[in-house]
Amino acid sequence: MLDADFFHRWMTAAADSVDREANHLTELDSAIGDADHGSNLHRGFAAVRAALDKEPPQTPGAVLMLAGRQLIATVGGASGPLYGTLLRRTGKALGDAPRVARQQLAEALGVGVAAVAQMGGAQAGDKTMLDALLPAAEALGTSFGAAREAADAGALATVPMLARKGRASYLGERSIGHQDPGATSSALLITALAETDG
Ligand code: ADP
Ligand code: MG
Ligand code: MG
Repeated sequence: MLDADFFHRWMTAAADSVDREANHLTELDSAIGDADHGSNLHRGFAAVRAALDKEPPQTPGAVLMLAGRQLIATVGGASGPLYGTLLRRTGKALGDAPRVARQQLAEALGVGVAAVAQMGGAQAGDKTMLDALLPAAEALGTSFGAAREAADAGALATVPMLARKGRASYLGERSIGHQDPGATSSALLITALAETDG
């Protein structure tokens, strides 16, 4: 079972990973966007880390809801409201249980990912974060390792896709041949989850 401390450590691991990969994320965004994805998430996850450390929430759901609120409040780009919604809605779906099973998290993450799809109007194959998140939420029902592999494969699969949502869609055919920055950061988030010890 996964307790509030597990979720706190997941968010800290995600913040560490975003710090390490910020330049890479911004490079990817410079090819098909406005070169700010790394700095957006660096700022957002620094706020997540600070808020969680200041007053650690007592339940898994509360950890994710607080993290989501921080992302919405601090990230101006498209990814802030989308990732914020992902974490808030996943956290809300977990309710106030003090501990949750991986299977419950998989279901809750499915709810969060559906909320992202509804908010952004994107679907699988549109070359967005959803191309990593949808298969990851599905595979999390099997194992953490399967979720990680699905997210990595999903991010890689965005390379040949034509972007249909967000800034990259303005490029039309020129968006083809580049990995989506948001799908890449989503894979980092899922990898951080898989690497957090239960
Ligand atoms: P911005 O595009 O506002 O500068 P970021 O660079 O931080 O924001 O984030 C860009 C990422 O957000 C994209 O790579 C994509 O994965 C994701 N994204 C953009 N629009 C959408 C959308 N409508 N639905 C899902 N994801 C989206
Ligand atoms: Mg950008
Ligand atoms: Mg921007």
